[in-house]
Amino acid sequence: MIFRGWQKVSYIEYPGKIATVLFTGGCNFRCPYCHNPELVFLEESLPQIHGRDVLEFLKRRIGMIDAVCITGGEPLIHTPHLFPFLEQAKQMGFLIKIDTNASLDQPFHQISQAGLVDLWGIDFKLPFPLYKKVLGEKWHKNCQLVLDQALKKPDQVEIRTTIYPPFHDEKILLEMAEKCSSANRWYWQNFNPQKTLSDEAHTVSPYAPSLLSQWGDQINKQIQKDLIIIRPFF
Ligand code: SF4
Repeated sequence: MIFRGWQKVSYIEYPGKIATVLFTGGCNFRCPYCHNPELVFLEESLPQIHGRDVLEFLKRRIGMIDAVCITGGEPLIHTPHLFPFLEQAKQMGFLIKIDTNASLDQPFHQISQAGLVDLWGIDFKLPFPLYKKVLGEKWHKNCQLVLDQALKKPDQVEIRTTIYPPFHDEKILLEMAEKCSSANRWYWQNFNPQKTLSDEAHTVSPYAPSLLSQWGDQINKQIQKDLIIIRPFF
């Protein structure tokens, strides 16, 4: 398994745990607001980090690091190589979190059924019929399937949405809340225009945090649940 980025220690990526964070390259989506375009386009300058070196590092840090978080890009496009890496990390006793855009249902089921993941970070980008906006129209049914499956175990999933003004308004967000209301939490991340995949997104202004808070409160009230948590820029 080749990773294309590595943050050796993170205190925020796995709730309440010390984690090491690995980034995979490549993605089957093209979200205009994507904050990691270098990973999506696999820029030449990215390092090549071998899974065996990561496992050596982990072996020496048993008891110091709790969790291994895999993010991207889209990690599940690498499942044939990622799977044995996860098995070895799990055998050493690490918790595992994988972030995914939820489009690859077979890899999701394969990894879930093998009990290799403790926490999934699932993107819920838009109401499913609008997935063409992230060039994900081919996969929107899979995304729905994966979200529904993941929500059967709400303690093992974080649902996340990047709030991007051309895509989201209060009505759309309410529609999405109704789809994911069985989650423990739905995390909203405000869009960050500093670095984006599309040039156009670079010129979009994010919503004011106060407006997002207001929408979050109103939607929570409508669905009668404290579902939405707003995270700062990521
Ligand atoms: S935001 Fe995620 S799913 Fe979208 S292009 Fe970037 S890495 Fe891919």
